[in-house]
Amino acid sequence: MSVNELNVSQPEQWGIFPSAERPFLIAGPCSAESEQQVFETAKALKDNGIGVFRAGIWKPRTRPNCFEGVGSEGLAWLRRVQRELGMKTATEVANVKHVYEALKAGVDLLWIGARTTANPFAVQELADALKGTDIPVLVKNPVNPDVDLWLGAVERLQMAGLTKIGIIHRGFSVYQKSRYRNAPQWQLPIEVRRRHKELPIICDPSHIAGNREYLQEISQQALDLGFDGLMMESHICPEIALSDAQQQITPAALKKLVDKLVVRAFDSTDVSYNENIDELRNRIDQLDDELLNVLAQRMRVAVEIGRYKKQNNITILQTGRWEKILEKVFLAGGQKGLEKELLEKVFSAIHEASINKQTEVMNG
Ligand code: PEP
Ligand code: MN
Repeated sequence: MSVNELNVSQPEQWGIFPSAERPFLIAGPCSAESEQQVFETAKALKDNGIGVFRAGIWKPRTRPNCFEGVGSEGLAWLRRVQRELGMKTATEVANVKHVYEALKAGVDLLWIGARTTANPFAVQELADALKGTDIPVLVKNPVNPDVDLWLGAVERLQMAGLTKIGIIHRGFSVYQKSRYRNAPQWQLPIEVRRRHKELPIICDPSHIAGNREYLQEISQQALDLGFDGLMMESHICPEIALSDAQQQITPAALKKLVDKLVVRAFDSTDVSYNENIDELRNRIDQLDDELLNVLAQRMRVAVEIGRYKKQNNITILQTGRWEKILEKVFLAGGQKGLEKELLEKVFSAIHEASINKQTEVMNG
C-alpha cells in the first residue's frame, strides 16, 4: 500500500454542506418508501438544521423477499426535496445503471455500500461510470475488516479522476453477534487515518449500532476519535420503517442527539495547554524508551534460555510455564489496574516473539 497522499478535497469544499464546521451531517431514512415519507422526513430534518438528506433508492438486502427499495421512481422525490426544501441529496449506488440514473436525476452525493466495496469488479465499474464527473462519493468500509480493500476502492475512484472522496465507517460483519449489529473495530478507521490524514472520514453510527439505543455513544466516540462527520438514519416514523426500523430515529430525536454531542478541537493554540501536553508527552516518550529497554533485555534472556535448552536437549515450548506466566501477569497486572484484555494481547505477542527467537537459536 502506498503512503502517497491522496488527492482529495475536504467536505467544506464540496459545495453541499451548509457550514464548514465539523461534524458534517448527513441524515435521512434508510430507504425512500413513499413521496410523503421522504418529504415529511426531509422537511423535519431541514427544520432541525440538516442540510444533506440521504435515502436509499435501491436497497441491498441480506435476504430476498424483503423491501428492496422503490427504485428509480424515488429519484423524483429526491428532486422535490432539493427543489422545495433547498436540501442536497444523497443515495447509494451499486451498479452502472444506478450511477447513470442518479446522475441524471441530479443527486448531489453518492455512496458505495459495504457489500459493493467488498467487490473490486463492481467498484471498478462504478469508477468507470463516474469518470468525467466530480460528484462527491463516500466509500463505506467493506463488510469484512480489510483496510486495503477499503482504500483500494478509494484509489479506483481517484484513478477515475474524482477528488471529492471520503469514507464511511459502518462497522464490520461478525458471525457472533455482540452488543452492536456491526463490530466497530475502531482500530481500522484509525489505521486509515494514520495512513491518510487527508481522507475525510464519516461515521455511520446507525449501521454500527443496529439499535437506536447506542447511537449517542457511538456518535460521541467517532467525534472523540476525530471523525469529520456523521451519517445517521432518520425516519419520520421509525416504528413503521420498511427497512432498519430499530436503528432509525425521528428528526427530533436526532436533533437532541446532535445537541448533546461534545465536539473537541484537533489542536489548541493555548500556551499553557501546549506546555502541559508537551510535558505529558515527554513522560510517555520516556516510558516508551524504558519499555523498549526492558523488552530488549527480556528478549536477550529468552535467547539465553533457548541456547541452554538446546544444550540440554529440551523442547522450546512448555505449556505449563506459559500458563504460569499468564496467571502471574493477570494477578500482578490486575492489582495495578491493568485490563486483562490488554495483558493478554501484550504478553501473547511477547511470548510468541520469544518462542520465535528460541526457534531460531535451536535451528542456528
Ligand atoms: C444503508 O446505508 O442503508 C446501507 C445499506 O448501508 P451498508 O452498505 O452500510 O449496509
Ligand atoms: Mn439502512
